[in-house]
Amino acid sequence: MKAFHSTRNNDRTMTSRQAIRQGMAPDGGLFVTDRLASVQVDPACLSGQTYQQTAARILGLLLDDYTADELDQSIRAAYGDQWSDPRITPLTKVGDDYILELFHGPTSAFKDVALQMLPQLMSRTLPQGGADQRIMILTATSGDTGKAALAGFADAPGTGITVFYPEGKVSQVQRLQMVTQAGSNVRVCAVRGNFDDAQSAVKTIFADRDLASNLASGAGTVLSSANSINVGRLVPQVVYYFHAYGSLLDQGRIQVGDPVEFCVPTGNFGDILAGYYARMMGLPVARLTVASDRNKVLSDFLTTGVYDRNRPFYTTTSPSMDILISSNLERMLYYMSNGDTELIASLMEDLATTGRYQVPADLLARIQSLFACGWADEGQVSAAIHDCWQDHHYLIDPHTACGYHVMDRERRQDGIPRVLLSTASPYKFPRVVGRSLGLDTPESDFACMDAIAQATGTTAPVNLRNLETEEVRFEDCIDIADMPAYVRRAAIEMRA
Ligand SMILES: *Cc1c(COP(=O)(O)O)cnc(C)c1O
Repeated sequence: MKAFHSTRNNDRTMTSRQAIRQGMAPDGGLFVTDRLASVQVDPACLSGQTYQQTAARILGLLLDDYTADELDQSIRAAYGDQWSDPRITPLTKVGDDYILELFHGPTSAFKDVALQMLPQLMSRTLPQGGADQRIMILTATSGDTGKAALAGFADAPGTGITVFYPEGKVSQVQRLQMVTQAGSNVRVCAVRGNFDDAQSAVKTIFADRDLASNLASGAGTVLSSANSINVGRLVPQVVYYFHAYGSLLDQGRIQVGDPVEFCVPTGNFGDILAGYYARMMGLPVARLTVASDRNKVLSDFLTTGVYDRNRPFYTTTSPSMDILISSNLERMLYYMSNGDTELIASLMEDLATTGRYQVPADLLARIQSLFACGWADEGQVSAAIHDCWQDHHYLIDPHTACGYHVMDRERRQDGIPRVLLSTASPYKFPRVVGRSLGLDTPESDFACMDAIAQATGTTAPVNLRNLETEEVRFEDCIDIADMPAYVRRAAIEMRA
């Protein structure tokens, strides 16, 4: 049961419940379990299953200290009628390939898949009768995580949530989604800096012992994370890889055991890591392709074996992939190095001190035998949106478009179906999408939505279109250095 330990050290083990509650290991590493290879899923059992049935099977294997009842209740609450499609993650044929639509949740981005579930798992970690303790979720967001986390945690018992986003670096729709969030236990604040600055500051806050004891004694609050480093976010994402395979079986495209490929628009390496987990658990995955935007640190790493964050940061039309430190890569390195915690600790030390590390040649070769990569600049993103609409009458968002471009350039392997993960509704980024389609793009994102709807005969998700008239609740903007004080104040106010 105590199957989880740090990527940097395996002396201390804990249950999945403890790992979810704590978020990140005390030594700065991420929680991993060595049980992945021993919990094999037979692909034959994936056909004819609802999303919820597959979820119960996969979560039951990975979170074995939750009871079947707890998981069933959690699944029912997380994947209910807040989803606009009862299939949760439908698989659509587009040309010769498939698109796995991950954006039918309440905030219209793929992070809902994990963040509708995480609060369920998190509130079930509260100590019995420990009504006096509160978990404060602390999150830095490059755009989509923040809203998805807010929607998941708003008014969840025993929890509070504070979200920091980089000022001016998220879209108008993304900002409005966050600052209009309802709930008595939520705080949203802009910070002056980019996403990596905010994310680093959040990591420093988690490591700050004085602040932690101050919060515990002063406000009865412990901090935890909703970023994709939390086990409770990662594990729910493993489910849709299995479910996609089941959909291909059900559509008669493959037979049990046939290989499939996935192409994944990638930032923090969480989404694609879940695909690697699925493969370790027995899913026949022939290739995983990392698609980056112009911030192509991952694509360079997979090509050269050198991870180097010392480079210019670009603010692009795919803000949720504008990331120079891909935290979850650490977990992939752990598994690919056969659990070499010493190596991981030393690579991460290099990253912290010099902003750079290089993996040994044999490790790089092993990684490259599974992971392919590519990237798209903004002109290519725009062309991909245009071409996909023109060729297939299928509308994609700028993140998905990075993947579309990369997949389009990639050599097809005979007969192996390719699945592109679509991570956001095109209506979340109406300005870029409208411009790419050659439409007039008015000043307001909402007028853009209407122009796209009219030109394509598609409809904007109601939750996005309605933002125009909702009341703004949060207008704070602070310096990075003031984040710890903001967190302390929020904890005290939520307590009051
Ligand atoms: C978060 C996000 C991504 C990147 O996912 P990672 O798990 O960080 O790799 C891609 N597209 C969208 C729309 C996102 O919100």
